[in-house]
Amino acid sequence: MSSIIQLLPDHVANQIAAGEVVQRPASVVKELLENAVDAGSTEIKLIVKDAGKTLIQVIDNGKGMSVTDSRLCFERHATSKIRHAEDLFALHTKGFRGEALASIAAIAHVELKTRQEQDELGTHLVIEGSKFTSQEVAVLPKGTSFSVKNLFFNIPARRNFLKSDTVEFRHVIDEFERVAMAHHNISFVLYHNGSEMFNLPSGNQRQRIVNIFGGRTNEKLVPVKESTEIVQIGGFVAKPEFAKKSRGEQFFFVNNRFIKSPYLHHAVMAAYEGLLKDGCQPGYYIYMDVPPHTIDINIHPTKTEIKFDDEHALYAILRSTIKHALGQFNIAPVLDFDRDANLDTPYDYEKRDAVIPGVVVDRNYNPFAEESPVKSEGSFASSSGGNSFRGDSYTPSFKKERQPAWESLYVGTSPSREDIADISFESEEVTGSLFNDNEVMEAVQRTYQIHKKYIVSPIKSGMVIIDQKRAHQRILYEQFLRNITVQQASSQQLLFPLVLHYNSGEMAIIREMQEALVNTGFVFAEFNSDHIVVSGLPVNVAESEVSILLEEVINDLQQEVPDSSFSQSDRIAKSMARSLAVRTGTLLTEKEQENMVNALFACKEPDVSPFNKPTFITVSVEDLDKRFAL
Ligand code: ADP
Ligand code: MG
Repeated sequence: MSSIIQLLPDHVANQIAAGEVVQRPASVVKELLENAVDAGSTEIKLIVKDAGKTLIQVIDNGKGMSVTDSRLCFERHATSKIRHAEDLFALHTKGFRGEALASIAAIAHVELKTRQEQDELGTHLVIEGSKFTSQEVAVLPKGTSFSVKNLFFNIPARRNFLKSDTVEFRHVIDEFERVAMAHHNISFVLYHNGSEMFNLPSGNQRQRIVNIFGGRTNEKLVPVKESTEIVQIGGFVAKPEFAKKSRGEQFFFVNNRFIKSPYLHHAVMAAYEGLLKDGCQPGYYIYMDVPPHTIDINIHPTKTEIKFDDEHALYAILRSTIKHALGQFNIAPVLDFDRDANLDTPYDYEKRDAVIPGVVVDRNYNPFAEESPVKSEGSFASSSGGNSFRGDSYTPSFKKERQPAWESLYVGTSPSREDIADISFESEEVTGSLFNDNEVMEAVQRTYQIHKKYIVSPIKSGMVIIDQKRAHQRILYEQFLRNITVQQASSQQLLFPLVLHYNSGEMAIIREMQEALVNTGFVFAEFNSDHIVVSGLPVNVAESEVSILLEEVINDLQQEVPDSSFSQSDRIAKSMARSLAVRTGTLLTEKEQENMVNALFACKEPDVSPFNKPTFITVSVEDLDKRFAL
C-alpha cells in the first residue's frame, strides 16, 4: 500500500498555528506590543480601526530589523530571543516562540516598515496570507511599524465569529492596559478610529496606573512592598472602601508579564478578610519579580498562566505583605494574622458618636384597647422609591392594564388561563358557608414568604412557590425593555447631580449605552472623558444604587457572556433587572409580596426570569396527598 502521510505546506501549518495564537484582534495587539517592548523601544504607538477588524498598527522606536531579519521574522520558529534550550529558563523577553508573526501573516494582510539605527535605509515589505507580495528599500524613521489589515480575510468563519466592535475593542484595551502597566518607563499612545483614547507618558508605576484608570485612582492606592529570596513584591492594593461589586481592576504581573492566577487572587482576598462588604472585590495592581528559572511560562499558548516552583510560599508572602500594607496605612484594625474578624469593630463605627441609652415610653399605649392600631400603610408607601416593586412608580400601569385579568384568577369569577400556564386560584373551591365574604378574600389573597427567598401562595390546584429574586428580575426586565423601546420613561430629578468617574474603557461602554440608558429614565448633564454627571434617574432606581447599578451594567457588557446575540437594549434591560432585583434574603411585607405576585403574572412571560430560569413552580394537591400517603 502506498504511503499517505505528507508534511503540511508551511502556509497551512501557519494557518493552523494561527488558530492558537490569534483568537481576535486583541491577540494581535498583544503580540505586536510585546515585540515592540522586546525591541527596546521607549515610545510605542498603537493605532486601531474598527476595534482592530480593519487595522491594527504598532509603531515603535526600537532597534528595528535588518533586511534579512525583516523577511525571516515571518518564518515559523524564527526568533532572535532564544538560541538554546537553557535560554528558556532565563527568559527576560515577552516573546520566545517565534510564532506570532508567522501566524499573523498567515491570516491577514501585513505591512512591515523597519530600519535599524545604523542603517541609512530601511525595508518596506508586504506579506498577505503568508505570501510576500512586495519588498522595497525605503527612507524610514528608526524603529519598526507593523500594520495588520483585514484580519481573518481568508478564514470567513473566524471573522464572522468576532463580537461587536464594543466587545472587541474592550479586549484590545485590556491587552493595551496590561502591557502599558507592565512597562511604565515606556510611553504609550492608543488611537481608535482617529481619536486618542490613551496617552501615557513614561513615568513611575503609580503615575502609570493613575493615567490609565483615571483621576480618583490615586487616592485609592496603598503601596505594597516586600523583598525576599524567592520574590520581590511591589505595586499597590486599593483601600477596602473602594471595593466594587464586580471584579474590576485586578492585576498580577510576574517579571513584567501580566498573568492570571486564581490561587494568588485567593491570597489577596485572604489579606482583605474582614475588611470588605459582602460580595465586594478589591482592586489590586501587584508586581512580582522572581528568578526566571523558578517559573515555567510555557504552559499556555497565550501565556497568561504560569507555574511557580514554590506557589505555597508565594501565597503566604503575598498575603502577609498585603495585610501588612493595609495595616500600615491604618486600614486594618489589628495586624494579628489569625484574628477573628467577627470580633472587630466595623469600620464606620470608629467615627460614630456614642449613643446615650434612653428609655422610650409610648404614652399612647392603652393596654385595654382591643386591637393595636393597624400598621400604617405609610411605612410602605414612603419607601425610598428604590429598587423595589413597592412604590407606585410603575405598578399602576400594570395594574390598569392587566391586573383585572389576574385578580379574576384569584377570586375565581372568570378564570382565564391564557396567560398563566395552569394556575388558577383556590377561590373557586372556597364556599361561602364557613366564611363571610371578607374572610374569603383574605384567605385567598394570603401569601407567605419563606426563608426570605420564596413566596408561597395557595391556588386552586394546590400551591404556587415563587422565587422572589427571579420574579422581580422578570418584572423589572419587562418594564425596562418597554421603557427603552417605547421611549417614554419618567425620571426623577436629582437635587444634587452625581459625578461618577470611569476609566476610558468603561467610558466607551457608557457612551455606547447612553441612548438606551436615557430611555430607561437616566438624565446625563455631562459626558466627559473620564466622568459623567447624572442629573436624573429612572423612577425605580434610588440614588444610592446608581453607582453599583452602572458598574454592574458596564461589567455585564464587558463580560459579554449572557446572550450576546441579543440587542444592546435587551442586554441593558437584563443587566439592570439583575442589578436591581430584590435579593434572596430580603424580607418582604405582605403588601410587597402581593404586589410582586400581581406584577409577575401581569408580565408577558411570567414563567421564566430574563435569564431563562423558572420563576415559579406549582405543587398540586395530589402531590401533597401522595407525600402524606407514605
Ligand atoms: P518572538 O517574539 O517569539 O521571537 P515573533 O514572531 O513575535 O516571535 O517575532 C519574530 C522576531 O521578529 C523576533 O524574535 C524579533 O527578532 C523580530 N521582531 C518582531 N517584532 C519586532 C520589532 N517591533 N522590532 C524589532 N524586531 C522585531
Ligand atoms: Mg513576539
